[in-house]
Amino acid sequence: MLNTLKKVFGFQSFRPNQESIIKNILDKKDVFAVMPTGGGKSLCYQLPAKIMNGTTVVISPLISLMKDQVDAAIENGISAAFLNSSLSPQEMSGIYHKLKSNNLELLYIAPERFAMPSFLETLKTIPISLFAIDEAHCISEWGHDFRPDYLSLSGLTQTFPHIPVTAFTATATPRVQEDIISKIGLRSPYVIRASFNRPNLFYQVKSKIEIESQILEFLKEHKDEPGIIYRTTRDSVFRLAEFLVDHGISALPYHAGLTAEERKRNQEAFSRDKVTIIVATIAFGMGIDKSNVRFVIHADLPKNIEGYYQETGRAGRDGEPANCLLFFGRQDIPKIRYFIDQMPNENEQSIAMEKLNQTVKYASHNVCRRRQLLEYFGENYPKENCETCDICTGNVEKVDITTDAQILMSAISRTGQYFGIRHIIDIVAGADTKRIRELQHNEIKTYGAGKHKEKKHWQFIINELLAQDAIVQDGGQYPVLILTKKGTDILYGKERIDGLKREEIKKKPKAFRVSGFEPYDEILFDRLRVLRKRLAEEHRVPPYIIFSDMTLHEMCIYYPATLTDMKSISGVGDTKLERYGTDFTEEIKAHLEENPDISIPDRKPVTIPANTSPQKVKEGTIEKTYELFNKGLSIKEIAKTRNLATSTITGHLENLIRDGRDIEIDRLVDPAKRNTIEELFLTLKTWNTGPVVEHSKGAVSYDEAKLVRAYVQQKTS
Ligand code: ADP
Ligand code: MG
Repeated sequence: MLNTLKKVFGFQSFRPNQESIIKNILDKKDVFAVMPTGGGKSLCYQLPAKIMNGTTVVISPLISLMKDQVDAAIENGISAAFLNSSLSPQEMSGIYHKLKSNNLELLYIAPERFAMPSFLETLKTIPISLFAIDEAHCISEWGHDFRPDYLSLSGLTQTFPHIPVTAFTATATPRVQEDIISKIGLRSPYVIRASFNRPNLFYQVKSKIEIESQILEFLKEHKDEPGIIYRTTRDSVFRLAEFLVDHGISALPYHAGLTAEERKRNQEAFSRDKVTIIVATIAFGMGIDKSNVRFVIHADLPKNIEGYYQETGRAGRDGEPANCLLFFGRQDIPKIRYFIDQMPNENEQSIAMEKLNQTVKYASHNVCRRRQLLEYFGENYPKENCETCDICTGNVEKVDITTDAQILMSAISRTGQYFGIRHIIDIVAGADTKRIRELQHNEIKTYGAGKHKEKKHWQFIINELLAQDAIVQDGGQYPVLILTKKGTDILYGKERIDGLKREEIKKKPKAFRVSGFEPYDEILFDRLRVLRKRLAEEHRVPPYIIFSDMTLHEMCIYYPATLTDMKSISGVGDTKLERYGTDFTEEIKAHLEENPDISIPDRKPVTIPANTSPQKVKEGTIEKTYELFNKGLSIKEIAKTRNLATSTITGHLENLIRDGRDIEIDRLVDPAKRNTIEELFLTLKTWNTGPVVEHSKGAVSYDEAKLVRAYVQQKTS
């Protein structure tokens, strides 16, 4: 198994659960697996397809997805094809011919084909090694994406009693899981429910104020990174895409109002890195296998957590760090409520309402975002601090807000719990409005009790009270505020309440860093990216199918300039080595020749055994560097002692500096040089080290630039 993993896929180790799933498949057992997006489900059946005798049949719902998957498999040297309505009769018969002569390892099929008796008869005459049902939740009416075509798969195990059947999905509540297993008729399957945690995603919520300029701001900081921006309506998609294009950003829209042709074109442009940003409604979804999506922005409040999780899940499939940013504004709530109020069925309405409340809570609650998401899926997150969400990195400080809460809730209570947010704030702030005079609310005791603080502050307290369930919003389009039991207790002094300190994020979040993420040569990365795009065009596949961002990053750390070195890079299997190896080694060689002072780490990438947390390994190793540095060793000496590359040690020191640890910077870069480098960053207006090194004409090394960058950013944060 490991041999095939390395040779065919070029990976050093299995992702969680892959190994045990494959073992069970090879033992001819049925398997049911729930693994998050990007968890590596395809490999679980593609690897056995390579090992087992006969053809592995994959059932997959989307034609577009099939083609990409087949392209990717072929790039890895697996003989693969698909059968669907897009093929001509000649192409079809070519594939049948290959099937019958046992010349296909992997065959993708759309589910509706299983409703055709003649097709089943043909299948029966073919040596089949395995059935793999992808997106298996589509078979369940209880799931969120039911497809009637999938029902023709029920009874598969009866028609093919001797062939193992496996089902994969990224979303299934326990109820849906049971439904899937019984509908397909899996025979005491090996069941895996993987953790939903996506450690490489950074979750963040920002107040939505001026959405378009806020997005522009974000994009400036994430230049050239592919990303998805979700909006609720077609109109807002259209307008935002236009706005971005007007501001020189490469963006395309995607929504159900476009023709099928346009949608396909725009999706393909995104998938092939021809456009950087896609602005979309949630119609843009399944079928996006692009692995190098670096961020997903929600410009409007999502309707429920399931959807939000799925949409954010499209970021960082390659395992590299990616951002998930939600812009949250209370003004979005009534819009969703309006839709909910239109629902014909009262039960559905109340479910939808509850789901909406959960997203509001997610966005406004002072609790680790990751913990909240995982708890929503019934998973207990063990760590105190996830280190990769705004709450955990934000150095959040809590303050007692009981008195202010009492002022607000007293106003709510004294006006009979009949009024909405704005009016209550007006009362507390002592506003002189027509409505207040008419209702004589200027005569109640709390009128003006909070006039010494700005309205924003009161809005903030209300958000906290809502988030912590002390009050709720109730009633149709003009929701009113109502006290809960908890709220009443606070009002009468039986309980106290804490809130986020309002200037909440005093420190800028720590530079984002997760397992497996090391500084890499950014200039080389750009070069290799261009090369990848060119090859992708030549071979007519999306660029990420050639090599993922993760693979390119690794090349930009270890500079493999020979095929032997290239082979040790994760993601470079035998077929890709043969097909693209030289293109990439040549490019790297050229880069090295042009930049003679680059120091190449002499050590191959470490293989981290599956199931041990890379983060832990890394934390320990950084501490070790810290210890040695404080004993007075230089970078070179530490590298030598530890048998690590100097660039690795520099990376450790960079992280230590960013963490605000006690690092004597003078020992790394002397003060005069530091000033020069700092000024270069400022005048060049970039945090990329490339331009700084280039500009210094060899006086400054990449390592020095990186260390100074970390130092300056930490100092000014
Ligand atoms: P899923 O279908 O579960 O969403 P995919 O099968 O599309 O995920 O895999 C996501 C990405 O992870 C792909 O780019 C794939 O090549 C990569 N991947 C899968 N298994 C491994 C592994 N063992 N090591 C490194 N990368 C892997
Ligand atoms: Mg998949």
